[in-house]
Amino acid sequence: MPMKKHLVTALALLSFAVCGGAGLVFSSSEERGSQTASDKTDVKTQDSEQKGAKKMKKQTAGRDNLGELAPKFAELNDDVLFGEVWSREKELSPRDRSMITIAALFSAGQYPQLKAHLTIGKEHGVTKAEAVEIITQLAFYCGWPKAWSTFPLIQEVYGDDEETELPPGVPSGLSAFPVGKPNDAYAQYFIGRSYLAPLTTAQIPTFNVTFEPGCRNNWHIHHADKGGGQMLICVSGRGWYQEWGKEPRELHPGDVVNIPANVKHWHGAAADSWFQHLAQEIPGENASAEWCEPVDDETYGKLE
Ligand code: MN
Repeated sequence: MPMKKHLVTALALLSFAVCGGAGLVFSSSEERGSQTASDKTDVKTQDSEQKGAKKMKKQTAGRDNLGELAPKFAELNDDVLFGEVWSREKELSPRDRSMITIAALFSAGQYPQLKAHLTIGKEHGVTKAEAVEIITQLAFYCGWPKAWSTFPLIQEVYGDDEETELPPGVPSGLSAFPVGKPNDAYAQYFIGRSYLAPLTTAQIPTFNVTFEPGCRNNWHIHHADKGGGQMLICVSGRGWYQEWGKEPRELHPGDVVNIPANVKHWHGAAADSWFQHLAQEIPGENASAEWCEPVDDETYGKLE
């Protein structure tokens, strides 16, 4: 893509960040909503894939925070700035948009919005080290004291422990359990992205499984001659469980699913929600897993 086009897109976005969108303070990632992107924003570019970036979430911070006081402003923020400009991922990736927006807000000294956009940047794959590097360079162009004021914000957003950093695109605060790493080993048996965090391999091996909205595993069977099967303990979001030939069961945090050995089933997220369950692999004799066909769009699409 020609540099000129990138620059025009970047400048269009900056005009919002500095002049228009900067008036809004998001107080938490929850307030920014967890709905999936609309069709309009459902464009993933190869570029953003390569950087591990995610498609935009539907933005609701305007209506959440200012819907009553300033409904038109809220509408413009959610539907135009985020719905029509930020969502143009083919023209400029969310990660790049986050970096220039961070730079613009830093330059303007808009610290509450800067902190909100550091959080969004983290979700778009900007690492802690990159955030520090951006500010280190911009200190020369925009002012040393601004850098002093911004590093504590980076510290607040990213925290101390690098290991607790979430994979790009995964919202923070889903549950108290770690998200772990992209579930690459089993990706071939999933539609959509999932993440796996081993919690313990002693006694009853237990894993935290995180599904992005719309993600589900293929039909599969936990085989065992005796014992075996799987227990799911739901800890975050909304999801589904279905046994072959039976009605699907909607899942919420606190729900427990006892999956007998040798029963064909699938589990995963609702289309519009992240979902997390602990998976406990019940020990059994000659235990093994058999992976079958994907849950087709017709079956999954009927779920609400
Ligand atoms: Mn299972």
